[in-house]
Amino acid sequence: MFTVKELQKIYHFGTESIEALQNVNLSVKRGEFVAIIGHSGSGKSTLLSVMGGLMRPTGGVVLIEDEDLWAKNDRGRARIRNTKVGFIFQFASLIPTLTCLGNVMLPCLFNPKGLQWANQEKAQQLLQQVGLADKLHAYPNELSGGQQRRVAIARALINNPIVILADEPTGDLDEETEAEIMKLLLTNLRQHQATLIMVTHNLDIAQRADRVLQMKKGRLQ
Ligand code: ADP
Ligand code: ADP
Repeated sequence: MFTVKELQKIYHFGTESIEALQNVNLSVKRGEFVAIIGHSGSGKSTLLSVMGGLMRPTGGVVLIEDEDLWAKNDRGRARIRNTKVGFIFQFASLIPTLTCLGNVMLPCLFNPKGLQWANQEKAQQLLQQVGLADKLHAYPNELSGGQQRRVAIARALINNPIVILADEPTGDLDEETEAEIMKLLLTNLRQHQATLIMVTHNLDIAQRADRVLQMKKGRLQ
């Protein structure tokens, strides 16, 4: 249901270039949790960005339920990103002028129910699940880093994405919050038979994955 074939990414800077992804192939089933580990600079973030439609690869194909992500125009890719893919990054990247509720509902602009009540109720539910029931109307700058991260996780889940791409989602959270977030992600995975692809340095988390893959100098092993 989620496949990448022969992915290549070359960065050019000045007269130099670096091959950050070299012939990366991966196929992930529904309901599967794949952990990606690897040293800093091995290409993990580049891989997630290309898989999620944020950065165009130099070569190769990304298929999400048979839709060829990089063959679409910007609009088509934005639709896929907002309806089928949930991103959780190291940095929360919330919109500062929207409340928590507004940030979580933002991807709903791309789903048929838009900003209707059903979606608002769902957003409230998700914020409750990440422990922010009392912060619905707070703005990002009123939240701690850990809280902002949890808002971003709720936002990533609002459209029941079939692929969740997570880059160190619990990186700087305390153990208790980390456990709650992992529980939420894995429950979501089972309920919606989604796919979870997570970059992590945490070997305890990696051990809970169905598969652990290692990135090494742009190659996936
Ligand atoms: P990781 O996430 O595993 O730390 P990255 O995907 O960030 O690895 O980086 C892979 C390689 O590509 C590294 O050598 C990094 O320096 C290089 N790189 C990443 N982003 C850029 C960029 N925007 N321009 C040039 N080189 C980059
Ligand atoms: P964490 O353990 O998640 O890092 P903090 O110690 O940063 O939490 O924050 C503790 C409390 O202070 C939280 O309830 C948070 O909402 C509040 N808080 C943190 N930063 C701010 C801020 N800039 N403005 C208002 N409230 C804040």
